Amino acid sequence: MALLLMKFGGTSVGSADAISRVAAITRDQQVRWGQVAIVVSAMSGVTDLLIRGAQAALHERGGYRPAALQIREKHEVAIRELLGDEAEAAAVRSIIEPLISEFELLCHSVGVLGELSPRALDAISGLGERMSAPLVAATIQSQGMAAEAIDASDIVVTTAEFGNAVPIYPETRERIRERLLPLLHHGVVPVVTGFVGATETGALTTLGRGGSDYSGAIVGAALDADEVAIYTDVDGVMTTDPRQVREARILPSLSYAEMSELAYFGAKVLHPRTIRPVVEREIAIRIRNTFNADHEGTLIVRESTSGGRPVKAVTSIKSMSLITVEGRGMIGVPGVAARTFGAVASVGANVLMISQASSEQSICFVQTSTAPTVVQALEDGLGSAIARRDIDRIIAREDVVIVTAVGAGMRETPGVAAMVFRVLSEQGINVVAIAQGSSECAISIVVSARDCDAAVRAIHALTI
Ligand code: ADP
Ligand code: ASP
Ligand code: MG
Repeated sequence: MALLLMKFGGTSVGSADAISRVAAITRDQQVRWGQVAIVVSAMSGVTDLLIRGAQAALHERGGYRPAALQIREKHEVAIRELLGDEAEAAAVRSIIEPLISEFELLCHSVGVLGELSPRALDAISGLGERMSAPLVAATIQSQGMAAEAIDASDIVVTTAEFGNAVPIYPETRERIRERLLPLLHHGVVPVVTGFVGATETGALTTLGRGGSDYSGAIVGAALDADEVAIYTDVDGVMTTDPRQVREARILPSLSYAEMSELAYFGAKVLHPRTIRPVVEREIAIRIRNTFNADHEGTLIVRESTSGGRPVKAVTSIKSMSLITVEGRGMIGVPGVAARTFGAVASVGANVLMISQASSEQSICFVQTSTAPTVVQALEDGLGSAIARRDIDRIIAREDVVIVTAVGAGMRETPGVAAMVFRVLSEQGINVVAIAQGSSECAISIVVSARDCDAAVRAIHALTI
């Protein structure tokens, strides 16, 4: 018997209509595969409401109440439409109501303490999945199948990096297998909460925004699933963000490396950490559409089968800043790069791209924090090198974007970089910095934020 792990995103469980589609897909896939397990996101918009409610509680007593009302209403409407049987509806309400009370209580405490710690925020922002999973499980049951909602905080053991936790293996694998395999053997569909986990001591954590995809991969890998299907609201991975370029097309297949680059450099369709758990076990990922379930979607495997153009897709990440550390004494002085990035890490800034030009005697990198914070950290951390004049200047440039062209074919095809730069120069776009990853299936280019859309469109034309 084969096993399919299906992850349903926020829109896919965002309304009664969507959830009934989920139940129908579950039935079809169980017939096809034999066994299915599910990971769900919170209903669309709920995580945002929880976070905004918590922040409002900080500034205004009772500021979270409108969020609580909206969350209750959204679930209540779905319960009424989906669960005709009053006892079934009451059973789900009896799970969701206490979770809303928990939200109010936690927010009240945030208001009293005047503090919203990352740990408290995780306990609050993870509540949406704990509401959606019982609702989805009850809907599947009401269609005559056996299902059980599972709280991932019981089975996904994570580090204590609140807001950005990662699972600890092998504990996580063991617990997932121990809890879910008996259900699967008995034909029960486990409906696991995405996005959340807990530390060994039971503190609630989250895996980062959009992290339910990652949960899907973690659970799928632990169960040795035959495929992980990520159900979302588009037919698959596209040549670029369809909201940015209308001509974007679906890609039938991508390699793990190509998908990693796309996700890392901003394609919201998949959380960047999703690939990691499935690669070792070579489990295929398929991105597909809950609202167009017959479409095959995009298959992500070790080697992509579709040939096509050397540049397959393009993505962008906005609101970045570029920092350049310059100095004649930088080259050949051991440890300067280490100290530079140590200083950047000390303020929690995330470096997405590095480029070093030895002739210029500089290191430049693109990072996510506010530029003045990082510049200050560098001035403090590199004080002695600055005093010795090994480092002459630290320059910050805000409002840049990284545009990334992705395609494994770039490795074998000479002149792809030249082609990318030519189309940019034809549009009069100035390239600020360049980096090519060692995987050689991506070229990243830094341009000014105002050139972002034009750069994406120009490179996108190469995918056609
Ligand atoms: P879910 O809630 O199902 O996880 P997300 O909103 O997180 O869904 O991700 C799906 C969205 O990602 C799509 O609706 C689309 O707008 C956006 N997106 C960005 N880049 C791409 C891309 N290259 N291919 C497909 N979708 C993309
Ligand atoms: N509900 C979480 C979020 O909105 C996780 C997810 O949807 O993947 O970030
Ligand atoms: Mg998502």
